[in-house]
Amino acid sequence: MTQNIPKAPPYPKSHILAASGVAALLSLALLVFPSREVEAQKTFLDLDLGNDAEMVLQEKDDLRAGLPVPGAASPFAKIEQSADTAENSAEDADENLLETADTPPPSDPNHHNITVSNGDTLSTVFAKVGLSANDLHEALNSHKDAKQFSRLKVGQVLEFELNEDGTLKNLQSKLSDLETIRLSRTDNGFDFQRDQVKPEVVTTYSRGVINSSLFLSAKRAGLSHSLTMDLANVFGYDIDFAMDIREGDEFEVIYEEKVVNGKRVGTGNILSARFTNRGKTYTAVRYTNKQGTTSYYNANGESMRKAFIRTPVDFARISSRFSTGRKHPILNKIRAHKGVDYAAPHGTPIKAAGDGRVTLAGRNGGYGNTVIIQHGQRYRTLYAHMQGFAKGIRNGANVKQGQIIGYIGTTGLSTGPHLHYEFQVNGVHVDPLSQKLPMADPIAASEKQRFMQLSKPLMARMDQEKATMLASNQQ
Ligand SMILES: [Zn+2]
Repeated sequence: MTQNIPKAPPYPKSHILAASGVAALLSLALLVFPSREVEAQKTFLDLDLGNDAEMVLQEKDDLRAGLPVPGAASPFAKIEQSADTAENSAEDADENLLETADTPPPSDPNHHNITVSNGDTLSTVFAKVGLSANDLHEALNSHKDAKQFSRLKVGQVLEFELNEDGTLKNLQSKLSDLETIRLSRTDNGFDFQRDQVKPEVVTTYSRGVINSSLFLSAKRAGLSHSLTMDLANVFGYDIDFAMDIREGDEFEVIYEEKVVNGKRVGTGNILSARFTNRGKTYTAVRYTNKQGTTSYYNANGESMRKAFIRTPVDFARISSRFSTGRKHPILNKIRAHKGVDYAAPHGTPIKAAGDGRVTLAGRNGGYGNTVIIQHGQRYRTLYAHMQGFAKGIRNGANVKQGQIIGYIGTTGLSTGPHLHYEFQVNGVHVDPLSQKLPMADPIAASEKQRFMQLSKPLMARMDQEKATMLASNQQ
């Protein structure tokens, strides 16, 4: 592979200037590119927002009521939030009221519930209940874990109980539905306690038909943002969720839900799923083998995972394709381009395309910092121009598919930050984009029966739940 690499190039000065100009242009293009993608997503979402006017109104109401709106940074998060609050206010209105007004009778002057607002620190909160900086210092230094009280979130409620003389008796705060922390005065300082609730895990079925984006349809079906991401990952080898999704596509999921006192507090794993994309149905079953490795297989026990992932960098743009002859941007000569270039900002992680063994991690002439991975006997991948290598990536190291091996850079003969990616089959360079990717290993024959005992009931349950759902919709 190294025989094609040019030796240290003695360029005339003007060429180097031209090259840096190209680099500047390229970085400019990179700056523009990601926002274009975000723009596209937004438009996509806005299309649907019209139908969700009620949700948006609901969100405004919640804002007026002074409820915290966490995680409103991305368009996804915001929409998710509005849907969540709409759901909550419909179902748990009373509970929400109770939560914010969880105060003991106002007749008790020694109890104070303070809701953290923007700009609050623990010392401003202490001041609100008449406690001094000294009290704060004493409480925080009373126990090594007490400092956790100083990591405040907007909307978090701190419950103070004071002694008759105005000193702090107890302080507690619910960090989540599953966790509460507490400081209680003792004879010699404070005692710190953490109460953790172990949720009950139940399995839930959801089904949705896509009429705009997967995210909105999944939201309507009651799936959380993270569960939707998981669903996209499970089918990510077979379905391109950016390009392939069509109106009328359908999904079904059986997943774990965490429940505390009858209240849903979070989700766990997807146990099984079905996705019909453009008329073709894909199935997925989560299975942990006897060695303890968990993976998704289709209902027949074939791996969902391919031996190689298609693109070793997320959020990149193909800046140059595989070709047998093109003009080299620096050498200005017709040369074959035996790989694919992915332009992405400096420092973007690069992932191993498949499981394998590192045969080179080091400087490699015009390729700059390079990693070569051998995958079994037949396949080899190469990653060039890296800024640096990830921890543990060295000659002889074993890597897992998707493991970060290094970061986008522009070392060696390169005009701007990008990954040059090569794929070899039996020592011959091939176009990674046109390769039909081989599948990873199926369920071991010795475990097939055990797998089917898990898979069959999950598929049957989806059939039954779907039939029930469709029947009740028709009435
Ligand atoms: Zn290249």
